[in-house]
Amino acid sequence: MSVIYQKVALIGLGLIASSMARALREGGLAGSISGHARSAETRETALDIGLVDSVHDTAAAAVDGADLVVLCVPVGVMGAIAEEIAPHLAPGATLTDVGSVKRAVIDAVGPHVPQGVHFIPGHPLAGTEQSGPRAGFATLFTNRWWLFTPLEGTDPEALARLKSLVEAMGANTDEMAPDHHDLVLSVVSHTPHLIAYTMVGVADHLRRVTHEEVIKYSASGFRDFTRIAASDPVMWRDVFLTNKEATLDVLGRFTEELFMLQRAIRMGDGDMLHDYFTRTRAIRRGIIEAGQDTDAPDFGRAPKKDG
Ligand code: NAP
Repeated sequence: MSVIYQKVALIGLGLIASSMARALREGGLAGSISGHARSAETRETALDIGLVDSVHDTAAAAVDGADLVVLCVPVGVMGAIAEEIAPHLAPGATLTDVGSVKRAVIDAVGPHVPQGVHFIPGHPLAGTEQSGPRAGFATLFTNRWWLFTPLEGTDPEALARLKSLVEAMGANTDEMAPDHHDLVLSVVSHTPHLIAYTMVGVADHLRRVTHEEVIKYSASGFRDFTRIAASDPVMWRDVFLTNKEATLDVLGRFTEELFMLQRAIRMGDGDMLHDYFTRTRAIRRGIIEAGQDTDAPDFGRAPKKDG
């Protein structure tokens, strides 16, 4: 593959940025990669493990001369960083982000973007519960969706170039309106995370009576909640603070459904429960058919010999 951007600046050097850096390198898609992160430790690690060609103490220095700048920091700090880098962005450069929420990022970043810079908000639907510069891997985006929420008047050539980059990293691309994105993501990602956090919190409250058993028998479903609930606290705090409306909407619906199921259990309404679970099973089948997960039992985990 060939170089798509001469200089890519990654602001934030955690899971997503380090996966991007690896994918960019493997594909030979960037002439050079510069980076910035808040802590000296992260910056040094990124340089040591060869994620980037240069690291900089400030975001402003990292974006100097870059034709693509990617904001890979928690959603809550994107506005402040945009303000800092704005005067240093090269004319004609593309500025994008990978934030999990789109309306809040557009509102925070948009006002700072200078004339002549193409601001194209984006969101890769790919991740793990790990964070930091060592957590990334080049195939993170393979066959995953990378959504863009372009603003009115977005330059089609700049958008096509950015799409060609993420497609070269293995992603599939699509476009969405920002508010619609936030609602959809609340259903498929944000609220499920909140529920996982809650379930693990409930287990924690009961730990005096259940501690040993919770750990010992965690393979029976709870383990998958704990994986999600181990996700980065700062990232997820920001997601809920900035996608408030959609999360509260979905959470309201969730609570109603939960009460319905609670009632069915209380009344012994087996038919209702059976119908409900039949419907949800079909949704899982749809996800597998769409190539977004494996149908291997237990998500393809190798069975343990000791059971
Ligand atoms: P991460 O692994 O926790 O990395 C965050 C990076 O941002 C770190 O390098 C951190 O630097 C840096 N940072 C934080 N505050 C900063 C500041 N004020 N100035 C400069 N750098 C700062 O996070 P991530 O998982 O890559 O997530 C990054 C973005 O991607 C978030 O907006 C998130 O919503 C989005 N996203 C995440 C996932 C996922 O599953 N993880 C999926 C899709 C999108 P230090 O290391 O020095 O603290």
